[in-house]
This record gives sequence, structure tokens and C-alpha cells, in this order.
Amino acid sequence: MATNSQLTELELTLERIREERENKREIFEAIHDGIIVFKPSLSIQNINSQAKKLLSIEANFDPAKDYLSLYKNKKTTLMFKLDTWLECIKNTNKQEPTEILVWYSDPLNLQSTPLLFSAKAMFNKNGELKNILLVIYDRSIHNEADEQKRLMQAAFNSYNGQFIANEKGYIIKSNDSFIAISGLSREALQKMTLMQWLEQQVNLKNDSNGILKSLLENKLWSGEVELHPSQDTVFHAILSISMIADKEYNIEHYIVNLQNITDIKEAHNRIEHMAFYDNLTGLANRKLAKEYITYTITNHRRHNTYGALLYININRFKTINNAFGRRVADRFLQLIAAELNKTVNIEDQIARVGGDEFLITCIDHAKSADNAAKNALKMAKKIAKALNRHFLVDGLSLHSTSRIGIKPYPDEEDTSADNLIVKADLAVSKAKEIKTNNPIYIYTPDLSSAVKSRKQLEQDLGFACQKNQVQLYYQAQMNSNQELHGAETLIRWFHPELGMISPDIFIEIAEESQQILKLGAWIMYHAFKQIKRWNKLKRDFKLSINISPIQFHDADFIPNIISIKQETGVNPKNITLELTEGILISDTEQALHKIDQLVELGFKVSIDDFGTGYSSLSYFQRLPIHELKIDKSFVSRIPKSKEDIAIIESIVHLANTKKLDIVAEGVETAEQLNFIQKQSANILVQGYYYSKPCPAQEFENQFLIK
Ligand code: C2E
Ligand code: MG
Ligand code: MG
Repeated sequence: MATNSQLTELELTLERIREERENKREIFEAIHDGIIVFKPSLSIQNINSQAKKLLSIEANFDPAKDYLSLYKNKKTTLMFKLDTWLECIKNTNKQEPTEILVWYSDPLNLQSTPLLFSAKAMFNKNGELKNILLVIYDRSIHNEADEQKRLMQAAFNSYNGQFIANEKGYIIKSNDSFIAISGLSREALQKMTLMQWLEQQVNLKNDSNGILKSLLENKLWSGEVELHPSQDTVFHAILSISMIADKEYNIEHYIVNLQNITDIKEAHNRIEHMAFYDNLTGLANRKLAKEYITYTITNHRRHNTYGALLYININRFKTINNAFGRRVADRFLQLIAAELNKTVNIEDQIARVGGDEFLITCIDHAKSADNAAKNALKMAKKIAKALNRHFLVDGLSLHSTSRIGIKPYPDEEDTSADNLIVKADLAVSKAKEIKTNNPIYIYTPDLSSAVKSRKQLEQDLGFACQKNQVQLYYQAQMNSNQELHGAETLIRWFHPELGMISPDIFIEIAEESQQILKLGAWIMYHAFKQIKRWNKLKRDFKLSINISPIQFHDADFIPNIISIKQETGVNPKNITLELTEGILISDTEQALHKIDQLVELGFKVSIDDFGTGYSSLSYFQRLPIHELKIDKSFVSRIPKSKEDIAIIESIVHLANTKKLDIVAEGVETAEQLNFIQKQSANILVQGYYYSKPCPAQEFENQFLIK
């Protein structure tokens, strides 16, 4: 029997045990993390309410049987099987717990919670498995903090340069972009304050007081700045400084953001440049030229001075464009622009105002319009001389010449830039018309009514044949015995209002507008009929006919010439077709084939203006031609120019080795004739020395009817 005292002791012990258990239970429940104690069979021995809450389970939960919404990743694709994992842990005798991060997916609000499972097997003294203890930590708070950190990091690592300075202004953190833009090392930056950096690298358009004021008032300043990381680098940037301060205005941090806008700025400048400058040559464009002229008109009026506009047109540019293509033509224009830049005075403005048209605003302080005209004429001559040369483009030697119109200004009627440009343009049209060798024309008031615009000329040309305004002229070619050998056919256009217009002007217009195809056929038809008649008077009389490159390259050229030959019944052996070198360079094979066809038909072929242009002689050996014509520009400079003498000698040599006929054009003086005749026994001579081109009847009377 137990004594009373024994009973009391037992009661006390039981009480203590109960208390201890109760304490343990309370501690167990009070723990913030979830705890589950598993039996070796994996059924639950103990579970605290936190674990129940985290996993939404009850005490009778059995991991081997019951479904748990646990996943190995956040996206709930790979199931996490708790029983399999615990089975593994049962068999490991590790001192440290085994850990794994799993995701609990709450089916009610579709949220995933990261849970860290930490489990350990517990063994008794005999080494038998007693329990498995699983502690479940809720990591959602940690995870959120991590996410925030990652977000901050990503924001900080942006393309923009960024740094954070502390309350004293010292740079405490900077991103890679900022280091790249500033060119400063992280170490150097950390010894620097925000203000020091601003002073060292930033050209503030607003003063720094303004920045401070804005920071104090708005806690933010932003503006466009120029950044000079080194002496020869400049960036354009938008700089933003934000000040972080507490409610009592105690400054905590400064956050600085630097957006590099150099590219945007450059693009903007380029667009602005494009609006005022010609893309190809870098010269001013028409818009800028007009602004400048407007400014100079006012300026001249204010100071009672005069200046001049020079309108420059490049001859035969279209032909170069057609023969060699856009790339060569563009390069040619660039070289011309460079030549103009070298030639004009530094204060004069050069603009490109059309395909091959340039406008120079000559700054002069002349006291009268006459003096301004004289000075401008000197300048125009200088320009014409500078442009009268060969430019090398892609191995081609391209000859340029120009026409220049001068308009001195301002007179009373010169009201606007547009008005002045039109007048300078009229003067250049007149310069194109002039038959003498003078490519420069000074504007006179009567021009405005007399000169028609190119567009009008193009329209008028359309009716020229129909209205009998065109006529063939003939210029004699004489042999070394001063006897008639033949003639060259040269077209003339008698405009009802403008009088005779030179082929140098209207052939180009006809080529540009393709009217040359119709005109060329008209010329061939009438010239063929003429030679038929003249061969009756002189059997071996020869006639040359100029063929335009546009006409030659036309697909119907050969069929047309065949049908005109048949219709007129002409004998082609007395007909020489004059082609220019340019014909042969573009589409050479096709061109050579056409020349072969012409020769097969019985025609003779001559190369006109030989040596003036596109002297690529690589094709020369393959050409079935009969004749070379020495251009009048070489002959005209005889005997003064040694260079021209050398050119003529080599053309003659080349023709003799190929057994070709030679015609020297533009022989005007006895001196020139002597020189030419000394070169070779069989040279033919064509020029004003013998006769000017004249109408058929006149020619017939003078040369064919004895
Ligand atoms: P081109 O074929 O080289 O013709 C020679 C040019 O030199 C002609 O000019 C002729 O009048 C000129 N000339 C001849 N001897 C002298 C001289 O001693 N001194 C001077 N200063 N000039 C002389 P024109 O008739 O004004 O023709 C100019 C160009 O127009 C021709 O050069 C030719 O390229 C083109 N052309 C003329 N008629 C025709 C034609 O019927 N068809 C085509 N497609 N082009 C033509
Ligand atoms: Mg000719
Ligand atoms: Mg010629």
C-alpha cells in the first residue's frame, strides 16, 4: 500500500510531468515555424498549428496517402512528393538536417508560397529510428526581399548611367554604364562627391545654383547637359538628380541618372543639316541659298553696296549620267563641288540648286552694280577655267565644262531671293545659247522677256520638225589637196521667237526628253535623201551624220536605220555615222555588237570628239571603225598649247597604226592648217578656214556645182 506521503509525491510528480508536457506543448505551439514529428511509419506523431496552417492539413494527415499541393518549382509543374523525400531521410544518418525549398500552391487564391523543409531522422541509444522531425520555414518574406533586390539591381543596371551619393554627396554606388560614360574608375568615383563630378565633367547650361534651388524646392532637377569625360569626347545627356530626404528634410541620398542622347542629338543635327545642305556635296541647298541671298539683299541696301549671283550649269552632265550611271555622275558632281570650294572666296556661299546646277553668292562691297558685275565676271572666268578640266572617276577621265550666268544685285527690282535666282538662271540659259566660245553671260533686263525657260523650249521642240523649224546644215571636209572630200551634217533649229538655237543647247534638251529618237530619225531620213542627190553630182562624195548616244542605245535604232536605208534607197558606203566614245563604255558588248551590225549594213563609223571624254582605250582594238575626229578644242589651242600638240600627235599616231582616216575639226587659221597637215599626209580638215556650216543649196552651189 502506498503511504500518503508516497501518494502526494506521485501526485506531485504527475503534476510536474503534466506541467512539463504542457510547457512543451505550449512551446511547440508557440514556435513561429511549422513542426511535424513523424513516426518511423511516416504517420504523424505531433504537428503544431503553424504546420497545419502552412500546409492546410489536419493531424490525421498521412503523407503516404494524402494529397499535398507541393511543387518543386514556382510554376507548379513538378510535384514534390513528401513521403518519398522522407523515406530517403529515414535512411540517412546525418548530423545536419537535410533541406529543400518547395512551393506550396494554395488552390483557393492560386498563390505559391516558398517553404523551406528541413528534416532530420532521430535515433535512440540503440541506433533504432525513433522519429523524423520536419521543420517548415515560410520563405515568402525572404523571397520578396530577394525579388526587391533583384528588381533594384536590374533597374540600376540600365543603359542609363546611374549613381547614388550619400547625404554628404559622396558617390557610394555607381553602375557599369556610368563608369563607361564617365571614363572614371569605381575607386576614383568613390572618392568623389556629386558636386566635384559636376564641376569636373559636366558643362551645365543652367548654373549650379539653379540645380540646388530646384533640389530644395522639388527634390528633383533635370536638364540637358554636355558631358566632357575627356578633352576630345563630348556626350549630350539628360541629367536627372533626385534628392531623397525624410520628413524633416534630412538628406539621405542623391540619385543621379544620366541618359546619353548623343545619338538622338546627332540624328537631329543630321536632319537639320539635311534641311539646309545638299547631301551629296555637303554644299548649301536652295533653301539655305535663298536665306543667305535675302540676308545679303538687306545688307547691301543698308550699306549701299553691290554683290553678284553666279549661276553655274555643267555641260553635258546628263550624258555622263546616262553613259556611266548614277554612281559615277554623283562622284563627278562631288569633284566639281570640291573644285568650286577651292576656287571661290572664303566668304562666298556655294549652293547646289539642281542636278548639275550651282549657285554662288559672291560677297562684294562694290560701290556700283557695274563694278560688282566686273568683279563677278573675273570670278566667273576663274571658275570656268577651274572647271574646264578632266576629272578622274573610276578610271574614267570625265571632261567638264560649264556655262555661267551672272546677276549683279540689288537693283530696284530685285525684291526677293527667288526673283534674283530666276534672273541668274535666265543669264545662264543665254550663256548656253551664245554661239561664240564664251560660256559666261551677264544678265540684262531684256533677257527676262526674251529667254524662254528650258521647259518651254522642250515643249516647242516637240513641234519643231512638224512646223519646218529644223534644217540640216552642211560643213565641208577637205583633203590635203584642198579638194572636197565630203561634209558633216549639222542640225539647226530656227525658233520663231528666239531665232537660231544652237544644237549644243537643244540636242541636250532633246536627249533628256527622249525627243532625240524622233528627231534623229528625221535627220537620218533627210540626210540619206541628200547624199543620194549629191552622189549623182559627185559619186564619191561622203556625208557624216551625228548619232546621239540615246538614239544609238535605243532598241529600235538598227531596225530604224535599216528601214530608212530601204525607203531612201541610199548607198551606205558613202555615209559615215559619227558616234562618241561615251557610247562604248556603258553596255560595251551590246554597243560593239551594234557597231558590227552597222558595218555589216555597209555604213562607215567614226568616233567624234575623240580624246575629249571617256578615254578608256581598252575596247579600241575590237572596234571596226573607219575614222577618228580630233575635237576642235585641241585644234583651237594650237600652236600655243604644248599639251594639245602632244594630244593631237598621239591621236594621229594611233589612227595611223590602225589605218584609220582622221578628220581635224575646228581649223580656223592657216597656222592651224599647216600644223595639221604636217602631222600626216591623209588628214581631212573641217573648219571655218574652209567654210562654216551652211544650208544644202548654198553648200551645193559653193562646192558641188562647178
Ligand atoms: P560636232 O559633231 O563635234 O560638230 C562640230 C561642231 O563644230 C559644229 O558645231 C560645228 O559648227 C563646229 N565647228 C566646225 N568648224 C568650226 C570652227 O572652225 N570653229 C568653231 N568655233 N566651230 C566649228 P554645231 O553645229 O554647233 O554642233 C555642235 C554639236 O551639236 C555637234 O558637235 C554635235 O555634237 C551636235 N550636233 C549637231 N548636229 C547634230 C545632229 O544632227 N545630230 C546630233 N545627234 N547631234 C548634232
Ligand atoms: Mg560631229
Ligand atoms: Mg566633233
